[in-house]
Amino acid sequence: MAPPPTSVLHASLTLPPPTITHASGHYLHPSPGPPILDASGGAAVSCIGHSHPRIHTAISAQLDSCEYAFAPHFSTPAYERLASFLCSSTNGAMKKVFVTGSGAEAVEAAVKMARQYFVEKGEGGTRTRFIARQRSYHGNTLGALDVSGHAARRAIYEPLLSGKTSHVSPCYPYREKRVAETDEAYVDRLAQELDDEFHRVGADTVCAVILETMAGLTLGAVAPLQGYLAKMKEVCERHGALFVLDEVFAGMGRTGYLHAWQAEGVTPDLMTVAKGLGGGYVPIGALMVSPKVVEVLGRGSGAFVHFQTYHGHPVACAAAYEVQQVIKDEGLVENCRVMGEYLGERLRARLGGHPNVGDIRGRGLAWALELVKDKTTKEPFPVAQKVAPTIHAAGLQKFEIAVLPGGGVVDGVNGDLIVLAPAYNVTREDVDLIVQRTAKAIEHVLGGAP
Ligand code: PLP
Repeated sequence: MAPPPTSVLHASLTLPPPTITHASGHYLHPSPGPPILDASGGAAVSCIGHSHPRIHTAISAQLDSCEYAFAPHFSTPAYERLASFLCSSTNGAMKKVFVTGSGAEAVEAAVKMARQYFVEKGEGGTRTRFIARQRSYHGNTLGALDVSGHAARRAIYEPLLSGKTSHVSPCYPYREKRVAETDEAYVDRLAQELDDEFHRVGADTVCAVILETMAGLTLGAVAPLQGYLAKMKEVCERHGALFVLDEVFAGMGRTGYLHAWQAEGVTPDLMTVAKGLGGGYVPIGALMVSPKVVEVLGRGSGAFVHFQTYHGHPVACAAAYEVQQVIKDEGLVENCRVMGEYLGERLRARLGGHPNVGDIRGRGLAWALELVKDKTTKEPFPVAQKVAPTIHAAGLQKFEIAVLPGGGVVDGVNGDLIVLAPAYNVTREDVDLIVQRTAKAIEHVLGGAP
């Protein structure tokens, strides 16, 4: 059947994706076609499921009171309430919040804030560089892409990127921890690499180090090893740079902690959140700023030199606040922890023996399967084989499940990924169905059914 005509600039100019006419609970309803089990919440976004009535009510109430006020000139109770909730959720580690329209905008704001921090300190002339990690993803706007280490997403824009960011190895034990190396020795090696990078580029030229607390969609749900974040922060502080954690993927409950750094007890100077903040009900992200940074701005210009027309949007803030209250009232951070363990168990039981499932990893309700051609050598499939995208398509077309395909970006670098990031309110029955359908889609493409 010929695809319907469309004026939308989709990723493919000729093959538009299925149209979703409505969504409820954990299901997307396409037209035509049967309901699709949403096993990845889009891209780890829909954290309380679709069509939650409380969010509908909160949005209507906000529309009735004030749909928009220009945030550089006016505040609103909705913006104040969300910011105050976010700060108090960090136990004082964060003091101010700047609400944006997306994750990438939050990262852009973090990059600009880090830069301004050093300008205010009188080091603006020298501290212009960033250090981030290879294969990281911080967003698709040019500033956020500039700090991202995702080679394929950067490639065609390279001349437009500033070249002021360099990248060190991620914490990626499955591929990069040496045989017989202890976790501690591996973490020390990564901290040493960061330290070497500071010296290579000039330690006093670095403005900030930016990391995903838990590497999400591009590396595939890799939680930091014990002690890793603390050691990276220690190196960063020794050289006077800011330590920035990007929690756009991992934050707001997904890992079984409201903020993923809370599992490690390592606080950032700046942090970003998005996805689970608004749960997909509204486009929203946020930059959160520590007292240390606020104090320097306070002693200096007394202002943050950045704004956008829609920042602090009251409807987005009201919706996100209510999403967070649902998470609290329904005990969903705890459910992420409990259901996350169950999901890991079920994935290992069902797919651990599959000849092409090289690694099964995750924390909370963020899990990934790394698929390889050869499990012993960890040789990835060639990128051209499009293994993960083919499994994604099979899931949609034959097994009524939406999973997130990833990885397989550059031949030989890593394997294809299937990322699962369901809503925080899944039950054991939902998890069983997710595992069953995911396994069927994988076996349909790669064989190896039990
Ligand atoms: N940072 C991380 C860690 C992400 O995973 C993403 C998106 O996947 C972003 C930033 C960008 O967020 P957005 O797509 O909302 O701009």
